[in-house]
Amino acid sequence: MNFGLTHEQDLIVTTVRGFVERELYPLEAEVERTGELPMEIAREIQRKVLALGFYAPNIPAEFGGGGLSMLDFALLERELGRTSMALNHWWGRPSNILCACNAEQRQRYLLPSVRGERIDALAMTEPDAGSDVRGMKCAARRDGSDWIVNGTKHFISHADVADYVIAFIATGEGSAGRKRITCFLVDRGTPGFEIRPGYDSVSHRGYHNCILTFDDCRLPAVQILGEEGGGFEVANTWLFATRITVATMCVGRARRAFDIALDYAAQRRQFGQQIGKFQGVGFQLADSVTEIDAADFLTLAAAWRLDQGLPANREIAQAKLYASEMLARVTDRAIQVHGGMGLMRDLPLERFWRDARVERIWDGTSEIQRHIIARELLRPLGA
Ligand SMILES: Cc1cc2nc3c(=O)[nH]c(=O)nc-3n(C[C@H](O)[C@H](O)[C@H](O)COP(=O)(O)OP(=O)(O)OC[C@H]3O[C@@H](n4cnc5c(N)ncnc54)[C@H](O)[C@@H]3O)c2cc1C
Repeated sequence: MNFGLTHEQDLIVTTVRGFVERELYPLEAEVERTGELPMEIAREIQRKVLALGFYAPNIPAEFGGGGLSMLDFALLERELGRTSMALNHWWGRPSNILCACNAEQRQRYLLPSVRGERIDALAMTEPDAGSDVRGMKCAARRDGSDWIVNGTKHFISHADVADYVIAFIATGEGSAGRKRITCFLVDRGTPGFEIRPGYDSVSHRGYHNCILTFDDCRLPAVQILGEEGGGFEVANTWLFATRITVATMCVGRARRAFDIALDYAAQRRQFGQQIGKFQGVGFQLADSVTEIDAADFLTLAAAWRLDQGLPANREIAQAKLYASEMLARVTDRAIQVHGGMGLMRDLPLERFWRDARVERIWDGTSEIQRHIIARELLRPLGA
């Protein structure tokens, strides 16, 4: 493994960092204050990223995307993670699962998404089925060659701005009574399908979650992504990237919080000296930078393994677990180093601290990551 960045990787990092600092940081306070990102500003961000030639960097070049390797994509996401999801969402990264589209679906979903003309959202979670995805109740029954869907999804990120939703729905029972899960592409405006506002989250304000309801919603079989009953297969093939992106965004945000704390520790004086010289403060900085570097290495190593075609289930779970928990500790310490000022909305630290909270929950909770790690360790031993 090469620990240095190539010229191209360096270019990715500096281009994205420059854009995030120049174009997105100035918007943060207002999005935070109002809990909204006006659509015209969102579209402007999108237009600028398209002009940069960096839109859809995760999608293979043969479909018009950036075709970045997992490692290069992780480096890009690390920079995007410096700002909130409400803003960085508009640096479009259509779900990788769209690569499972057939030729006709590509024209309607994948290619317009890569061009920024259509926005996707992904719906797995339900009120009674979170970590236990297979427990989903949202179900479809056959009616000729169509499917009639009933049920509810919730916590679905940015579905308020989505043109279509990639939804996982139970389509009967398979062997041993296990639910067959099928992935459908559902257009906004499909009769019987409604996207409603969700809950008011303290994390990533302006990045809304939604409730989706299916009420006798008729979907033709051509809306199936992959095979009927093959929802988990397409998910497992294409969604591995999302946990790495959570991890690497945590690293980016932690680094930003740390830099602010480091500067403050070098400036602020109490008892006649800079507070960083007190061991109690200096050691907090030492712990933070060590943990950030550790999370960075874990994450980039997991991405590298994927690029090499090596098994990476355990490594991805370790990266997501460690980076999200690290971010909570680092943002908390950054506040501590600032004393009372750390909690004031005048600084972005209390926001980073609130935003950090969701990272241990979405895309699989910390407990689920630990479960995956333990399973990967024990399974080869027959346990
Ligand atoms: C802001 C936000 C946005 C989201 N966006 C999306 C989205 O776009 N699409 C989508 O499909 N989902 C989305 N989610 C859902 C997210 O992935 C789930 O919240 C997460 O998987 C946990 O499910 P749950 O909230 O139902 O918690 P539960 O599964 O009910 O878990 C509750 C607690 O029990 C623990 N637990 C559960 N099972 C086990 C076990 N086997 N072993 C040990 N502990 C266990 C959990 O770790 C947790 O601590 C989003 C969530 C949030 C908060």
